[in-house]
Amino acid sequence: MTPPPSLRILGCRGSVPVAGDRFLRHGGATTAFLVTTPHGHLHIDAGSGLLDAPKADPLTPRVILLTHAHWDHICGLPHFPPLYDGRTPLEIAATPRHNQPPEALLDLLFAPALFPVHPAHLRASPVTTTPLPPTGSLERFGLLVDWCEVPHPGGASAVRVRTPSTSTVLVPDCELHALQDSALLELAQGADHLLLDAHFDDHELPAHRGWGHSSASEAAHFARKAGVRQLWLFHHAPWRTDTLLDDHVHRARRIFPNTSAAFAGLTLPLHAP
Ligand SMILES: [Zn+2]
Ligand SMILES: [Zn+2]
Repeated sequence: MTPPPSLRILGCRGSVPVAGDRFLRHGGATTAFLVTTPHGHLHIDAGSGLLDAPKADPLTPRVILLTHAHWDHICGLPHFPPLYDGRTPLEIAATPRHNQPPEALLDLLFAPALFPVHPAHLRASPVTTTPLPPTGSLERFGLLVDWCEVPHPGGASAVRVRTPSTSTVLVPDCELHALQDSALLELAQGADHLLLDAHFDDHELPAHRGWGHSSASEAAHFARKAGVRQLWLFHHAPWRTDTLLDDHVHRARRIFPNTSAAFAGLTLPLHAP
């Protein structure tokens, strides 16, 4: 029997990968999600967690949707084996940022000063690129994917993945207090699961205004306003150990009780129970 679609967190760390026994429960890999469906795999962001994607039939079509191109969201991409497998249909979709469409982004990633493999090896594979508007929607593998722009230096997308019975909203990087309109609130309204930037703690935030991230309590207030079912704190700072994340969650639950900290390996069903 074909398993129903699900969304797996492959990495939820922000800024830079970390390792060590203080990070075992939540993981140290940076942002990457994998939505598996019977028709193909939808990846959202390509941080170091991308390398934990389970092996699949090389003929499985894949789409990689990038919320933005900061290092922690793309550093797994040049190392992703399907990029070098001519059998895997692979589409990279992203909103152009700094006037860089997705194909120019690949040229940057594979610049000789940064990476040893020549882009010609990548180009030999059937890779297509799709520039996306700042706000929009598309359908891939039977999933309806909507996105909107959120405040973050250089811009970033918030993404909603919908199936007929569930709605999951992913907001890896976002400075909530700088929101200018209601687009994110509308995108997240009533979601079953909201994974939201909670990089900072309240006492860290004042020194980091304009850095593009939110605090756990800001995320909890937003979740309450949006009426979501479950909030998952996301984009954990590299210094946020498992123990510190427990404190983070404890404080956020005073504002929004259904709060937990996202962890690598968490799998969310995309179908009604
Ligand atoms: Zn980030
Ligand atoms: Zn970022």
